[in-house]
Amino acid sequence: SKDAGGGQYSIFNEKMQINALRKVEIEKEVRDALDKGEFSFALQPQVDISSGKLLGFEALIRWFHPVRGFVPPDEFIPVIENSGYMLEIGYWGIKRAFLILQRLDELGFKELKVAVNLSASQFLDPDLIPFLEGQLKTFERDASQIELELTERTLVADIEQTLETMQQLKKRGFIFSIDDFGTGYSSLAYLKQMPVDIIKIDRSFVSNMENNSADMQIVSSIIAMVKKLGMTVVAEGVENSIQMKMLKNLECTIGQGYFISRPIPESDLYELLPDKIHY
Ligand code: C2E
Ligand code: CA
Ligand code: CA
Ligand code: CA
Repeated sequence: SKDAGGGQYSIFNEKMQINALRKVEIEKEVRDALDKGEFSFALQPQVDISSGKLLGFEALIRWFHPVRGFVPPDEFIPVIENSGYMLEIGYWGIKRAFLILQRLDELGFKELKVAVNLSASQFLDPDLIPFLEGQLKTFERDASQIELELTERTLVADIEQTLETMQQLKKRGFIFSIDDFGTGYSSLAYLKQMPVDIIKIDRSFVSNMENNSADMQIVSSIIAMVKKLGMTVVAEGVENSIQMKMLKNLECTIGQGYFISRPIPESDLYELLPDKIHY
């Protein structure tokens, strides 16, 4: 209310200060965590919906802090997203993804893909392209096995530069996915301009599609549109057999979600392959 205006103002400032302190604290902890090797990936399987075949994994970062325990990515990624720490974690993640591909290759899974999430600042980093090229050389891998996921929000930071980086990487064979599709602004305007191969339908549309006809229509329309544009469509957050069946009927290409598999810690992954990961 208006009466509380002055008070609100000072509380607001106080809150901002706390947040700034907390930010510095988290940044420092992230720095330590990198040095101490507290980050790892959990890999969530992605399957071909019509055949059930395993196609690859999305790499999701995991932070096990010695005191705080598990810190979910939604709690620390947004805090560090615009700092140099994001770039450092980003490099760690890209390198880890290549190591995972190498290990999968050694185990005889030569065709599987790994998808990594990239933040806006990574696309604006002049070292991103040379770093990715270096990894391709070091690991002697085909760029088409690495998928780079970005959200519509990523573009907003600097659309020109982000598109330029994407085009350069696209030329070298990297695959791009738009994550959380349908939740950002101007999705369709961006779609036309981006060298994108894959669209991932946000799980908020999928998670209730069997009960909500609007959600079902949205999912159905996105699938049809994406396929008409010659791209691949992934449904995220598939949690039950009804959703899976509906997606199959709608001829959605790829599925990902708890119904197929939870994200699997990398430390468990190689033992589970090949028998236990199938839909
Ligand atoms: P995202 O990229 O949309 O990742 C999907 C999230 O949905 C993951 O949460 C995953 O565990 C969760 N999920 C998968 N299947 C289901 C399902 O069937 N039901 C439900 N309810 N959830 C499901 P997670 O691992 O907590 O990651 C959260 C977000 O953190 C990610 O959302 C992504 O935006 C970000 N993130 C994760 N790892 C990285 C990373 O290495 N780099 C960057 N920049 N961001 C990351
Ligand atoms: Ca993602
Ligand atoms: Ca997503
Ligand atoms: Ca998300």
